[in-house]
Amino acid sequence: MSRIAYVNGRYVPHRDAAVHVEDRGYQFADGVYEVCEVFGGRLVDETRHLDRLDRSLRELRIAAPMGRKALLTIMRETVARNRVRHGLVYLQVSRGVARRDHKFPDPSTPPALVVTAKSIDPAAGERTAAAGVAVITVPETRWARPDIKSVSLLPNVLAKQQAKEAGAGEAWFVDQDGTVLEGASTNAWIVTHDGRIVTRQADNRILRGVTRTGVVDLLGRRNLTLEERPFTVEEARQAAEAFITSASSLVIPVVKIDGAAVGDGKPGPTALALRGSLHQVTEMSHVVTAPYA
Ligand code: PLP
Repeated sequence: MSRIAYVNGRYVPHRDAAVHVEDRGYQFADGVYEVCEVFGGRLVDETRHLDRLDRSLRELRIAAPMGRKALLTIMRETVARNRVRHGLVYLQVSRGVARRDHKFPDPSTPPALVVTAKSIDPAAGERTAAAGVAVITVPETRWARPDIKSVSLLPNVLAKQQAKEAGAGEAWFVDQDGTVLEGASTNAWIVTHDGRIVTRQADNRILRGVTRTGVVDLLGRRNLTLEERPFTVEEARQAAEAFITSASSLVIPVVKIDGAAVGDGKPGPTALALRGSLHQVTEMSHVVTAPYA
């Protein structure tokens, strides 16, 4: 089945899906995005993703491309047209197309909207979780507002590639004071030997992950102790467990940091239990799969 993308008002074959050369997302990374999980044909946590999108747009003074209901209709339609049962829906809004000039274009310039959806084999995620991932640490080189989900991801791209070349699955950005900020595309967590679950507070130095918020909810429901505070690389190395979270990976145990085993070097029970229960607390909205040929 051929993939379909939504580009500025039209559903088009994925191979033909293109934006203008003067799209400000392309020229300046002047845009924001969201990635939302699709599980069993349902969008996971759509409200939180769209709340965060609104916030990112507001912070950058980019106009919303349309109202929330219309946006949701397009996301669901894109999922349905691509017959995605398990996978991801990607949404990007840029400040639109205008003659190249750093300053904002005329306010009448409409923002540009792209939505794509892709299927992912859920078994692949389960295999990754069962094996755990290694992380490397890298110095923080991003701009001062990574709480905004901007498409300006060059430091994240370089960090992820460095991780790959080191045989690792993720890179953790580390602040000048030696504390872990977050991963290149995930939030970072540790579990202490007395069972406290620690993640950095969601200030403007990290992205407030929707999955992070889901895990915070889950901890509350299970009466597990959450500490939102910075932790050092050294504390993570000595921790009982470590894990990462994101909409595309859910909860993945971290088994090595910079080559040294975390705990016994195997995926930790807390991380695996949180992974197993997460969908019990997330919002699941139904996507009607339309009978497209
Ligand atoms: N931190 C960064 C830098 C990310 O890019 C992401 C996701 O892409 C996350 C954290 C996790 O956020 P979420 O759980 O909303 O996917």
